[in-house]
Amino acid sequence: MSPDCDVCPDCLKELFDPLDRRFRYPFINCTNCGPRYSIIIDTPYDRPNTTMSDFLMCRECRKEYEDPSDRRFHAQPIACPVCGPRLKLLGSDGAIADPDPLAGAIAALQQGMIVAVKGIGGYHLAVDPFNSMAVRELRKRKKRDEKPFAIMTDTLRRVEDLAHVSPIEARFLSGPERPVLLLRRRDGNDIAREVAPGNDYLGIMLPSSPLHYLLLGASLRAVVMTSANLSDDPILYRDEDALKELSGVADLFLTHDRAINAPCDDSVIRVFHTHPLMMRRSRGYVPRPVQIPSIARDVLALGGELKAAICLAGGEQGFMSRHIGDLKSPATMRSIEGTISELKKLTGITEGVVAHDFHPDYHSTLLAGSLTGLPKVAVQHHHAHMASCMAENRLEGEVIGIIFDGAGYGSDGSIWGGEFLVGGYSGFRRAGHLREMRLPGGDAAAREPYRMAISLLYQLYGDAVFDLPLDVLRGVGKEEQKIFLQMLEKGINSPVTSSCGRLFDAVAGVLDIRGKMSYEGQAAIELEGEAERGICEALYDFGVLPGNDGLILDWLPMMRSVVDDHRAGRMRPDIAATFHRSLAFAAAAVCREIRSESGFDRVVLSGGSFQNRLLSEEILTQLEADGFRVFTHRLVPPNDGGLALGQAMIAGRSQVCV
Ligand code: ZN
Ligand code: ZN
Ligand code: FE
Repeated sequence: MSPDCDVCPDCLKELFDPLDRRFRYPFINCTNCGPRYSIIIDTPYDRPNTTMSDFLMCRECRKEYEDPSDRRFHAQPIACPVCGPRLKLLGSDGAIADPDPLAGAIAALQQGMIVAVKGIGGYHLAVDPFNSMAVRELRKRKKRDEKPFAIMTDTLRRVEDLAHVSPIEARFLSGPERPVLLLRRRDGNDIAREVAPGNDYLGIMLPSSPLHYLLLGASLRAVVMTSANLSDDPILYRDEDALKELSGVADLFLTHDRAINAPCDDSVIRVFHTHPLMMRRSRGYVPRPVQIPSIARDVLALGGELKAAICLAGGEQGFMSRHIGDLKSPATMRSIEGTISELKKLTGITEGVVAHDFHPDYHSTLLAGSLTGLPKVAVQHHHAHMASCMAENRLEGEVIGIIFDGAGYGSDGSIWGGEFLVGGYSGFRRAGHLREMRLPGGDAAAREPYRMAISLLYQLYGDAVFDLPLDVLRGVGKEEQKIFLQMLEKGINSPVTSSCGRLFDAVAGVLDIRGKMSYEGQAAIELEGEAERGICEALYDFGVLPGNDGLILDWLPMMRSVVDDHRAGRMRPDIAATFHRSLAFAAAAVCREIRSESGFDRVVLSGGSFQNRLLSEEILTQLEADGFRVFTHRLVPPNDGGLALGQAMIAGRSQVCV
């Protein structure tokens, strides 16, 4: 039971060898490569249990399949042009658009058309990334404003033309998992701005199937390859669904008759030091298990609400599912249910306990409630993040957890997200947290950083906030000002939060980097991008204060300096860099206090804010300088995509009362 794998060097050679009988055959594979997870319907992994069961092997394929000395001995997806799957190019009416599917698709892309391409884990939408008009048209049809599109190209050299690639990044790019890597964009490349507007990074991947190699190459240097789905629905993978749902989006469909059984989005990583920093763990990694400290009972953990992924765990293995998406549409809820039964079938693990988030309204919590007859364990969100990082590092005992996150339901019912926890799998206490601030307008504040900026400035300047000569306040009319002041004074529709993500939003707002977001995390990503270009000369001040519920990391002095520097005309990158480093120093100061009182010197870093590589680096460096042993994520995402692993660990170790 292995993950899907890219094309191996032997198959790649044959693919382009005119004398080979699989010359330019888009479904070439062998025992060392090809689709696995996505085509397996049942166990054991044998051809009749895959979507290849429809294809009867020809004599030559059968010979290779049965010959122990052959590279294709018992290669279940074995196929050739005589007996295997075939490519076709369809118009949006479902009729054959061109008798030569590849040539037709390439020509269409060169003309700026949008082509749906059936890959390993589902359909992608492809378009020419050098053609602004075409990319803009794709954004319009897909209703996606600014969230970056990934690009696929066929050689490392071509990746290097587009972005800066370190030797380690090159290794992960060319690895069998073929994830999308976030790489710093090279200045002066001719990729259209619309591919990743306002972003210093490009998401780039190398081909994950022979079809991709045939599509790229001579005539196309690169293509945008973005998951084919509507808004945030799951990736489309059934031919009928794709044709129907994408009829107004794709001009053509480059498809074939090998069915995908388990859909799987592209994985997305950055490289941190020598290991992956997972943003999304899916194709290429799933269903490889994570080795965890042993648990007493088998668990089904349902994860959170955004970037959902579930986990089935038993013994010393945690099987994280593919990326499911944001659990807000009926389609994602169906997808999560499908994933559960599929993972159960593959792993043979039957849930003894169901773990879910402490949040009463998460869809995953409601789903847990509907699974009758099973004991449930509700896990606090940031405790789960902490346990997730502990589990993949196989830690036992108690540690300090810095959990810098967007939002999670706190033990006291308030919104947490900038937490210093102390504990282990069996429990935790809140040892500290970021100074709280209000979310004026509730949910809207999480999408509109200018609201967070006003909330933060209100703490510094009170009623005088709108007298400040800041660009971020310029668009706020008199009426809106009045409403803001009322909300912030009286706390109307303005819950408090200790969220680290919202603090980053506030800073991005104050610096007028981003007032409103068109996708999750945009403001923090852009703030990090600025900071990477800046220099920190002297640290900003901060406080560590005693509070009712642990220590308070008081960022107010830091923010006063941010505002002063900004008003004095200091460069934004330098302010952003100084903010990152100062926050890291402050976090380390809190950890030192916790250590002196608890004796713990191991620190785990988890939560969505640790997708920020600069913040991770600064905190790691500072903690190590202070003599801490620091553990970060390498196997599962620090964001909510890794939550289920921690939930499974906590529930698997808990004393459950039925
Ligand atoms: Zn191969
Ligand atoms: Zn054959
Ligand atoms: Fe979270």
